[in-house]
Amino acid sequence: MREVYLDYSATTPVKKEVLEEMLPYFCEKYGNASSLYTPGLEAKRALDKAREQVASLINASPQEIYFTGCGSESDNWVLNGAAEMLGSKGNHIITTVEEHHAILHTCDHLKKQGFEFTYLPIDENGRIDPAEVEKAITDKTILISVMLVNNEIGTVHPVKKIAEIAHSKGILFHTDAVQGLGNVPIDVKDMGIDLLSMSAHKIYGPKGVGALYMRKGLRLPNLIHGGAQENGRRAGTENVPGIVGFGKAAELAKANFDHHVAHASELRNYLAERIKAEIPYVHINGCMEERHPGNLNVTFEYIEGESILLLLDQFGICVSTGSACSSKSLKPSHVLAALGVSDELIHGTVRFSIGDFTTKDDIDYTVEKLKLVVERLRELSPLGPGKSW
Ligand SMILES: *Cc1c(COP(=O)(O)O)cnc(C)c1O
Repeated sequence: MREVYLDYSATTPVKKEVLEEMLPYFCEKYGNASSLYTPGLEAKRALDKAREQVASLINASPQEIYFTGCGSESDNWVLNGAAEMLGSKGNHIITTVEEHHAILHTCDHLKKQGFEFTYLPIDENGRIDPAEVEKAITDKTILISVMLVNNEIGTVHPVKKIAEIAHSKGILFHTDAVQGLGNVPIDVKDMGIDLLSMSAHKIYGPKGVGALYMRKGLRLPNLIHGGAQENGRRAGTENVPGIVGFGKAAELAKANFDHHVAHASELRNYLAERIKAEIPYVHINGCMEERHPGNLNVTFEYIEGESILLLLDQFGICVSTGSACSSKSLKPSHVLAALGVSDELIHGTVRFSIGDFTTKDDIDYTVEKLKLVVERLRELSPLGPGKSW
């Protein structure tokens, strides 16, 4: 059966060029990067190169890049580390209602240790008002963490402005840039970012590798105690093939940036136009400006539960629904809820995310099947337009 993958925000396939770079580091160049003989030095050189490639994508220096096990790990490191390091100065952290669970659930953990949180609201278009940041700051605030790009509705947030506000009060600024990396321009120096989380598998690299950018001069408490890896801050023998893959993926993301953005946004806009024109009772969530180039989040009214995802899957089409990122629970998305979308409508909401391997033909196929699926489900639904209870 045909497969149309429209869930690039959940994960991406590893690009062939990335895999090819990685392969030698499994069976041939398997040295431990801490060893001083030739194969060890070879592995060390490979790590150095990957660190440069990742640094270059965000205009950091290689010494400011710390490889981790995933984006979630980087987020955990920042919150727990800042809490430990600055807890004696204050117990207040500012973040947003629409962060990834890697942030929100770490906040829950820190609440049990006496930390207090302000969750900045989003408006009906998914935007954060920097003035709200200013208002939320108290003399106990030690960290502000605002995601660069939201993973469900794709909103790009004004982190440069927010970082400026943070620094004017001497507060650390972190951004979860997992969804932004490779999709919006990132320059940590220009944007004044102190800490930034990344993940390889969202940019055509392998799963299980992430990184934290930590501005020079800043030292969060060490994450894993042990050997001298990652400058002593995150011990454990490095995942050399994974890190090499992350490096290559970062290099490609930089080289292909303009093409990637143009391709994704063209197909995304085409999908949006066709859905609006051909399917009644739909609503696009979030704003179309300042948005992830490949993201489209659509509510289909009069559709119950996760049925739309399951029927699309029968046609080989992969998308996420309003309970995205927690597909095992049917808990409605906290992001859509924060936008003011009702629980019922959240379950009829689909996130399409488009990437480098998506074709126009994929979109045409998707729209054709989507029309069928939506029509069929609305016929079955007691809630359908014009139907009485
Ligand atoms: C995917 C994602 C993460 C988690 O990254 P992992 O590498 O899967 O742990 C964190 N934040 C955002 C915004 C994401 O989209």
